[in-house]
Amino acid sequence: MLNIMKKYDPTASITDIVDSIVFGPVTSRRGGRSLGVNILPPGKKVCSFDCAYCMLGRTQAHSGKGAVGWANIDLVEKGLIEASEFLRKIKMEIECIALTGNGEPTLNPEFYDIVERIMEVRDDLFSGVPVVIYTNSSKVCERSVMNGLAMADLVIAKLDAVDEELRELINHASNTPPVKDIVAGLRALRNCSNGELAVDIMLVEIAEETNLDCLEEMSEALLEIRPHCVYVQTPTKPPVKTSVKSVAKEELIKSASVIKEKTGYDVYVLLGMNPPMPIAVLATWSG
Ligand code: SF4
Repeated sequence: MLNIMKKYDPTASITDIVDSIVFGPVTSRRGGRSLGVNILPPGKKVCSFDCAYCMLGRTQAHSGKGAVGWANIDLVEKGLIEASEFLRKIKMEIECIALTGNGEPTLNPEFYDIVERIMEVRDDLFSGVPVVIYTNSSKVCERSVMNGLAMADLVIAKLDAVDEELRELINHASNTPPVKDIVAGLRALRNCSNGELAVDIMLVEIAEETNLDCLEEMSEALLEIRPHCVYVQTPTKPPVKTSVKSVAKEELIKSASVIKEKTGYDVYVLLGMNPPMPIAVLATWSG
């Protein structure tokens, strides 16, 4: 059966697999009141990773090969136009347009052209609203993907582990470059983009291993990338795999403090559904 993609659905949720291209407004911790843009096929998760903690469940396809129902430039534009009409009717303004949805957006074969069109539509219909792209960083080394990411106002790029074995355990990365190439790719993105780059680290315990033990190596990678800021978090929903555990709040704060100390960057902690909190203030807050 051919999957039919709705252009816009105001009722879809950011934490579920969606059947629409544009959805929301939804409330996100980092973007506030956001319109989601899903450029992956409807109704299933397509991702180059299969993270043990993914809130969308297991990956159903690791690449775009053979997938049907990709969002294209015109459908994305139509979805954004419909969303702007809906928002006008309910007299609501948004704070962010976020490329997120059913997996990894850079897998869309028309990724660059779609981002370019989103930026144009944003200028026409949502002037001043930032466009944010969430990526797992797996395709950042590809020139057209890097150029697409470089158009966004903010890229939030996942980097959970710099050790290959640990990355395999946490992210189950499929057919992706070695971590050192991804670090170099993120560095190149940082240098060629007019927007900002944030690195997003999910701290977990899994099968008696944890990325809590690798903060030194992670900090070295961050110093190479030079992001504008770093987010540190732990899963808030029960993970897909029962062998995965969230880390305790105290560990999260301690780890963020270590990264802050070693890099000097702006480091934010994401706790539960609260907005990001700067570790520089949080770590010294005595209440
Ligand atoms: S990269 Fe994101 S969408 Fe893909 S498996 Fe990991 S958490 Fe899920």
